[in-house]
Amino acid sequence: MARIGIITCANCTQDANCAAVVCLGDLRKRRGFFERYPKDEPLDLVGLISCAGCPTLAAAEKILRRVKAIADFKVHALHLSYCMTAVCPFVHKYQEVIKENFPGLEIVPGTHKPGPLPEFRRGVKELLCQTLAGTQTMADMIRGTIKTPQE
Ligand code: SF4
Ligand code: SF4
Repeated sequence: MARIGIITCANCTQDANCAAVVCLGDLRKRRGFFERYPKDEPLDLVGLISCAGCPTLAAAEKILRRVKAIADFKVHALHLSYCMTAVCPFVHKYQEVIKENFPGLEIVPGTHKPGPLPEFRRGVKELLCQTLAGTQTMADMIRGTIKTPQE
């Protein structure tokens, strides 16, 4: 059995209200970055948590508390969410500090099947910078019903 944890981008999950439905859907269907596990190996999602928020250039280690909250429970692989790999300027530094501090933990750089990157980034910007805060969420983007100011 593969014991898996997922860590997500707080901008996408906290600010844009993503409930990680696509990550979890692809985990169930073994698509995207979950294809790597043998078909007959059961997958056990042990925990899912967002990052600790943008750390500035000075404190990438801020993420370690969040990783620990999952890693303490005999997790074999920690998946960095697709959104984290797509929008986070700290993602490589994160991988470095996680590796240093949790040497036994495999880091997998992704979760669901990647979509077109520029569109995803544009959509995230739209959600985070909308003037009527909270009117649209990541669920609108996932369902393809997100409205842009031009519409
Ligand atoms: S990777 Fe996609 S589905 Fe998963 S938390 Fe990020 S935006 Fe949501
Ligand atoms: S951009 Fe990076 S540090 Fe900022 S909230 Fe997203 S994953 Fe966390």
